[in-house]
Amino acid sequence: MSIVNAKEIMIEAAKGKYAVGAFNITDLIQMEAVIDAAIEKKAPLIIQTSVKPSKFLGTDVLVAIYRTIAQSAPIPICLHLDHCTDVDYCKKCADSGYTNIMIDASKQSYEENIRQTKEVVDYCHSVGDISVEGELGTVSGVEDQIKVAEDEAALANPVQAVEFVERTGLDIFAPAIGTAHGVYKTKNPKVDFERLGKINKLLNGNGIKTPLVVHGGTGLPEDYIQKLIEMGGAKFNVSPELKHTLIDSTYEYIVAHRDEYDPGKVDAAVRDAIRKAVGHWIDMLGSAGKA
Ligand SMILES: [Zn+2]
Repeated sequence: MSIVNAKEIMIEAAKGKYAVGAFNITDLIQMEAVIDAAIEKKAPLIIQTSVKPSKFLGTDVLVAIYRTIAQSAPIPICLHLDHCTDVDYCKKCADSGYTNIMIDASKQSYEENIRQTKEVVDYCHSVGDISVEGELGTVSGVEDQIKVAEDEAALANPVQAVEFVERTGLDIFAPAIGTAHGVYKTKNPKVDFERLGKINKLLNGNGIKTPLVVHGGTGLPEDYIQKLIEMGGAKFNVSPELKHTLIDSTYEYIVAHRDEYDPGKVDAAVRDAIRKAVGHWIDMLGSAGKA
């Protein structure tokens, strides 16, 4: 049960009206912390790396550690490559043993997005039990969040979304609905809930085939999260929050123990802080006890 792709655990989530947390990590301590939290909460889990840490740590090392831990873990765990714009690197990670790949060709023209996404889908399906995530529309940085959220053309068009999924053979789908990467600068970010609901109805109205992903989880108000789950969000990406937790907990520990030179204790403090942050997310997403 332990090594899984994202689609299978997201279909269960969508059916059960909860969502799976997808947590970005940049090192192995964070990977352990995220896994510890999910085991503690008995929750299905998606670990994500963006391209940079995956290159820094090396896909083979990353996958070896993921597989070693996941094989014996009592929960299902997926290893996901987040926002990769390079088709060849997507294929390399699929070959290495990632179980979900996101090809992000959303900045390309619509036809080119389809072409690249389909190429990655076809490849991943040919080499293993690997699901693929694609994106349509613009998931902005928080600097542009309001501008993008108000620009109809930057968000995923529901009818086009259906065509995009059909033509690419995509497994899980990330439509731009106004959520953003970074830490929101307002308490009320503008998010198009109805758009997500409409896309979900068109794609999954007759049974869940293509579960939906919400990017930009960090800082979303809890009532937004609940509403997005109701509208079909089955995976929430959480990245900056864990980076902040890592840096803050490191800083706080070192300031409080300036005469100590024991790296293991710093690691333990970081692991504990990240475990708590992830546990809180799991509670908000309703995935506790679902593994
Ligand atoms: Zn994202």
